[in-house]
Amino acid sequence: MTQQSDLKQTPHTIAIIGGGPAGLMAAEVLAQAAVHVEVYDAMPSVGRKFLMAGKGGMNITHSEPLDDFLSRYGAHRTAIEPLLRAFPPAALREWIHGFGIATFVGTSGRVFPAGMKAAPLLRAWLHRLRERGVTFHLRHRWLGWDESGALRFGTPSGERQVTTDATLLALGGASWPQLGSDGAWLPLLAQRGIGIAPLRPANCGFDIRWSDHFRQHYAGAPLKSVVACFGDLRQIGECVISSHGIEGGLIYALSAALRDEIEVNGHAMLHLDLLPDWPLQRVQQEAAHPRGARSLSSHLQSRLGLKGVKANLLREVLSAEQMRDSELLAQTIKMLPLRLVAPRPISEAISSAGGVRFSALDQSLMLQQMPGVFCAGEMLDWEAPTGGYLLTACFASGHAAGKGVLSWLQKPG
Ligand SMILES: Cc1cc2nc3c(=O)[nH]c(=O)nc-3n(C[C@H](O)[C@H](O)[C@H](O)COP(=O)(O)OP(=O)(O)OC[C@H]3O[C@@H](n4cnc5c(N)ncnc54)[C@H](O)[C@@H]3O)c2cc1C
Repeated sequence: MTQQSDLKQTPHTIAIIGGGPAGLMAAEVLAQAAVHVEVYDAMPSVGRKFLMAGKGGMNITHSEPLDDFLSRYGAHRTAIEPLLRAFPPAALREWIHGFGIATFVGTSGRVFPAGMKAAPLLRAWLHRLRERGVTFHLRHRWLGWDESGALRFGTPSGERQVTTDATLLALGGASWPQLGSDGAWLPLLAQRGIGIAPLRPANCGFDIRWSDHFRQHYAGAPLKSVVACFGDLRQIGECVISSHGIEGGLIYALSAALRDEIEVNGHAMLHLDLLPDWPLQRVQQEAAHPRGARSLSSHLQSRLGLKGVKANLLREVLSAEQMRDSELLAQTIKMLPLRLVAPRPISEAISSAGGVRFSALDQSLMLQQMPGVFCAGEMLDWEAPTGGYLLTACFASGHAAGKGVLSWLQKPG
């Protein structure tokens, strides 16, 4: 209570720039402590990427044990762990339940809000924030600071300067820039000497040099129930052939490792098991079965159940002569090599890797070199696969940065 009343006695101006899940969660923490918050966003409405995430079924977090959950952040676990321990997946679910919106666990352990949509949650959330006095300034594009340290915004009626007691940047990464996050903040912080890891595509598709014939006939075709292998990584799932290469959840799951390999070696070899339920021996037997006068296509279909995109992937990587070598054919069905030559551009990726380095921040997510300026969300240097890990870390870092601002306001002087 003392915290709230102390803060109330001194009116503060807090700017949160970026109205995605991270910025809005920080606004929630501050508004709850009766601090007046002004949220600025470049777009005509907030939470656009959050709404888009809800289009295909909003996967907001995951129900697995916290230790497994934390392992999904890979090399960034150490930095993310304290944030997630302070606002773990269970707390996120509780928070959603507080809006009268139930959550449920899907078969894969993924957690979804009832109805699987983001819109009802965002609507209720914005309503509550407004009721608690949070003010929204839309179509306000942050342009950096002026010489006096005031924030500069480009607005439809010209440039505006705003002076604040604390600023919280929650500007997102650079994927899907049409939704508002375009990474334009990066040079604004870099020129102030803030350590930033370059933004890179994460949870992305890859380019493969398909033949014209394969591209024309199979772009858009789903590849169902295949296993993708890269190094020690093995993942079952579905993906989609695209005109550029390959896309989809299965590929996204391996995309960080594939992207890193391409950066080092110029390409990455991904292997697909087209018949993951069949042991190699059975595939060998069926491939070697005498086919008599039947064509190779009908042989593949009748003995191995392979047709359409799967059969033609084999033709894409094997010559006509190699296709007639039953042993090579069987080996390729179980381990079809695909040469990935580049990740798709960051604008097409689900999320971004890279961003403000944790070494540039203190424990409260305040920039060491810019006291009073905090950062949260996808603009921080971490990455995670899809599965609810992205949103959960955005919420948790927004929560932590909001708390950080509160502590900062309480400091004397
Ligand atoms: C298609 C798609 C599906 C997804 N599905 C899921 C999912 O199911 N589960 C999951 O966990 N994650 C999912 N994600 C990822 C998740 O949506 C993001 O990680 C999350 O929205 C990032 O939150 P954030 O608050 O850090 O940034 P954002 O949500 O990107 O918000 C940043 C805000 O800052 C504003 N902004 C940026 N620059 C400026 C500026 N210069 N001035 C003013 N405002 C600015 C933007 O307009 C935006 O409103 C998905 C992403 C995409 C693209």
